[in-house]
Amino acid sequence: MKVRVRFAPSPTGFLHIGGARTALFNWLYARHTGGTFVLRIEDTDVARNTQAAVNVILDGLRWLGLEWDEGPITGDATGPDKGDCGPYFQSHRKANYRARVEALLSRGLAYEHEGAVKFKMTREPVVIHDAVVGDVRRELTDREAADPDFVIVRSDGEPVFHLVNVVDDLEMNITHVIRGEDHLSNTAKHIALFRAFGVPSPQYAHIPLILNPDGTKMSKRDQGALMTAYMDGGFVPEAVVNYLCLLSWSPKDNREKLPLAEVVERFDLPQILRANARFDRDKLLWLQGEYAREFGDDRFYELSIHALGRAGFDTNLFPVDYVKAALDTCKGKIKLFNELPGYAGFYFKDEFDYTPDGVKKDFIPENKPRLQKLRDAFAGLSPFIAVDLEIALKRVAGELGVKAGVLVHPARLACTGNTAGPSLYHLLEVLGKDRVLLRLDRALARMG
Ligand code: GLU
Repeated sequence: MKVRVRFAPSPTGFLHIGGARTALFNWLYARHTGGTFVLRIEDTDVARNTQAAVNVILDGLRWLGLEWDEGPITGDATGPDKGDCGPYFQSHRKANYRARVEALLSRGLAYEHEGAVKFKMTREPVVIHDAVVGDVRRELTDREAADPDFVIVRSDGEPVFHLVNVVDDLEMNITHVIRGEDHLSNTAKHIALFRAFGVPSPQYAHIPLILNPDGTKMSKRDQGALMTAYMDGGFVPEAVVNYLCLLSWSPKDNREKLPLAEVVERFDLPQILRANARFDRDKLLWLQGEYAREFGDDRFYELSIHALGRAGFDTNLFPVDYVKAALDTCKGKIKLFNELPGYAGFYFKDEFDYTPDGVKKDFIPENKPRLQKLRDAFAGLSPFIAVDLEIALKRVAGELGVKAGVLVHPARLACTGNTAGPSLYHLLEVLGKDRVLLRLDRALARMG
């Protein structure tokens, strides 16, 4: 049997970490088994769907690298249409739902009731064979026992979640339904619908919830809940994906940093842990630091340039060698890429404000003649390289009878606007003589 799984988000709210983890587990299972990963947008709730939420789902999955495999944009789910990877949209599939409801009505398995259509729910207990949770026997609750039947088409003609979800899983030949445990309570209804359509239900695997660090249920307002917080917050997808793998799955050997290829090789449904997972921002940040440090140059440049671009710096305006040399001075120094514009933006703009704290401490009147002397020493240097800059600065400090730091701090502030950043001598070398002298002159003028 060829595995076919799907991620089926409703675009009524923004993609959150639980949804991303569900998508990832489906993707992992598809890649592990050589199966197919389908993306289906469950957009039947017209009043609550938004295009912005659809975009975040698509961007978020692409950012994580969870490419989906098929889905003709026409919404015709008759089969894979290679080369056309639009996701399926339920809003394009209304005719399929109508046909299925007609079939149930004509066979007496559903009936009209006050303008709506209700499904005749089985009165027998339903046993769910879940790959994660085990066997779950669902009896009718007292309230359900009074009227077990449920609405599948509302009186306004709109088909209901249970119906469209099952029709699509059936028509898309989904073999495994891997989804959040919050859907376990719907599953007896879904199994009954599959039976009514005369087909076996897929294998279910309900994955545990993600909790806040304090054990409360995570909601979209909690810190770290929304995927956009990672995408915009300077995280790298490698670290986030690795972290998501560890939420209710483990390689069983205490390792936490794992190459994705290895997870794909080892991932299987029975290993999904039964206990709820707790969100651990420190572990995620640790992974982030590990990945950021180990990136090869090209990936580091790519992510840095992207982060700078988002902050409004156009690195294309500078020679490639200059950009690379500038970024080399930042490698290993930052954890989150959104720190980079603040850390290294000075390389890419000549006009910047000086940090007020630095001005108070370092742009004091007695530092002006010192900085002037340093400027003159730098002006005489050729080549303008880190080792010589360091020797020159220390010589000037010696002549002035002050410690090197007395010159280092105002020089850094003058050339970067900040009190901390990349190694001073290296950043001066990268900036080059012309820029450094201009910036020192600007600072000297500012010092009155
Ligand atoms: N649209 C449902 C949701 O977002 C999908 C549930 C399922 O995966 O079956 O929760």
